[in-house]
Amino acid sequence: MAKNISAVVGIQWGDEGKGRMIDYLAQDADMVIRYQGGNNAGHTVVNQFGTFKLHLIPSGIFNPRSINLLGTGMVINLEALADEIKELESKNIDTSNIRVSDRATLTLPYHILEDAYEEERLGGSAYGSTKRGIAPSYGDRYLKKALLIGDVMYPDFMQKRLREIINWKNLIFRNVYKKDEINFDETYEWITKFSEKIKPLICNTHRLIDSYIIEEKKILFEAQLGALRDIFYGIYPFTTSSSVLSNFANAGGSMFSAKINNVIGVMKSFSTCVGAGPFVTEMDGEISHKLREIAYEYGAATGRPRRIGHFDAVASKYGCKIQGAHSIAITKLDSLSQQDELLICTAYDLNGISMDEFPINAVLEKVKPVYYSMQGWNEDISHIRDFDQLPQQAKDYVLKIEELIGVPVKYVSVGPERDSLIVR
Ligand code: GDP
Ligand code: MG
Repeated sequence: MAKNISAVVGIQWGDEGKGRMIDYLAQDADMVIRYQGGNNAGHTVVNQFGTFKLHLIPSGIFNPRSINLLGTGMVINLEALADEIKELESKNIDTSNIRVSDRATLTLPYHILEDAYEEERLGGSAYGSTKRGIAPSYGDRYLKKALLIGDVMYPDFMQKRLREIINWKNLIFRNVYKKDEINFDETYEWITKFSEKIKPLICNTHRLIDSYIIEEKKILFEAQLGALRDIFYGIYPFTTSSSVLSNFANAGGSMFSAKINNVIGVMKSFSTCVGAGPFVTEMDGEISHKLREIAYEYGAATGRPRRIGHFDAVASKYGCKIQGAHSIAITKLDSLSQQDELLICTAYDLNGISMDEFPINAVLEKVKPVYYSMQGWNEDISHIRDFDQLPQQAKDYVLKIEELIGVPVKYVSVGPERDSLIVR
């Protein structure tokens, strides 16, 4: 099978190490396309240029020969993008190959306020939003009350739209949230200021991509978050507001004349989850604390401590299925060294009935994990580059996961650095 059009997607709750895998795989890519999400993403890359946390810019930015496209399916905060470009430039990373879809959605300062006001209103039942305005931006897109990135090129058109939208938004701010009104001039000035550096990057995406397809160039799609956060197939409503699935990459990434032929699913060798929602294999305080510190499980975008759980084969198998994964990269195997016992959840128990399908939240909230116990290993494995050199228990653990999810594990990551990778 031709492997020139690939997607790197998350299989679990996000933070599986997609940034790390994209940085590795983008070394010979001609174009990397982020197809959904906004600056609520935190993709960590550790390579010879330093340590980076990317939020909007694709993790292929370290390959100067690759175009890095912020796709139509994204919601983009201009200030955050300008800051991210500035930060990369300060570390001497070439940012001239960034492009932004003219049809992507603008995230504006009032979306961030709205996000915070709604979480405040929800109080104890808040969703655990990253408060970057992502849900209100997507919400407005579907309500047909959003501005497109390309609108910034047409000030008259944009001013008229923005005025109408702000009039409507102020009804909500004033009457629902009892907050101050948004000021048109301030919002307009914000857009003008932060679109300055972005304007030259705005482009018609499908024309650009078509030319790459004709020349059979190598295209890599980059997802944010993981399958279980998908707006339709995830743990709704504790999902994100966009589709994170590889099947959405064509639409969100404007590729209409070709298909993705290689979907690489990234999964962590244990479970982590940021924010609220059911999390079946969650560990208790003491054990989770130990693994959180060893694995340094704190949110790349927010710094929030991640919730930690045992590997969940039911959730991960479902993740593989809905992502259409052809192969798997398993990350952070090194973080599991020095655990006496490793538990893998092989089924869910619902009042004595065993389930191996991942259900909707109404059921998920009630299930209990059924565990399979495996022996851990003590050795540091971060220097190993050959699967056969791994301790037998580590090999057994990976092979057991492979058997349970039914998708070949092609990559085993044993460290955050680009080259800390076993390729099978
Ligand atoms: P993403 O959102 O999927 O790109 O993942 P994040 O960057 O939010 O979280 C993954 C974290 O794990 C980052 O801090 C990475 O540097 C780190 N990481 C990725 N792969 C490995 C690995 O194999 N071993 C270790 N120790 N850390 C890893
Ligand atoms: Mg992340």
